[in-house]
Amino acid sequence: MAKILIVEDEKAINDLVKFNLELVGHECSQVFDGESGLTEALKLKYDLIILDVMLPKYSGFEIMEYIEGTPVIFVTAKSTPQDKIKGLRLGADDYITKPFNIVELVERVKAVLRRTKADTNHFEFDDIRIEFDNRRVYKNGEEVPLKPREFDLLEVLINNRNLALSREKLLHLVWELDYEGDTRSVDVHIQRLRQKLGISDRIQTVYKTGYRFEI
Ligand code: CA
Repeated sequence: MAKILIVEDEKAINDLVKFNLELVGHECSQVFDGESGLTEALKLKYDLIILDVMLPKYSGFEIMEYIEGTPVIFVTAKSTPQDKIKGLRLGADDYITKPFNIVELVERVKAVLRRTKADTNHFEFDDIRIEFDNRRVYKNGEEVPLKPREFDLLEVLINNRNLALSREKLLHLVWELDYEGDTRSVDVHIQRLRQKLGISDRIQTVYKTGYRFEI
């Protein structure tokens, strides 16, 4: 589920897009002119903006100049290659021309969300899938039960992938302990992760230091 802003002055099209995106579980807000579009876009509370180009007050291209960080799909009747290039050069993630197929638009939205924000909620490698929101881990589609600290450790390793992390650093990040105390719990938890997930080759021991998750 994503929060999507639809900026489109043709009400029938705006409603059609909203209806179809809500059918697949998204939450949509509608605005019908460039000024409201800009105001809403600057609130930074959307995962994606569907942006028409020819709008009253400000054009989609003008609005786009102010949008940073939020993915944008232009939906527009302007369909010359120059328009498309301009839209993409301004930083849009995709560009769909009218008349468009609504199923295609829904698919493009899904693809952009997969590439951008919504995508950070899970991580996949080999036969492993980790879902950070609900803290579940799957191997070959089957859930592998992890203890809370094991999951925390796995998350830290993934967020710092390909970096060598000392046992002390891991103790600090996972157990929130700052003293150079008993780093043996780090080794024990690393062993359990390797065994439970069968990822000994991914979690490398770094000589005299600690561990590195290699991907
Ligand atoms: Ca328009």
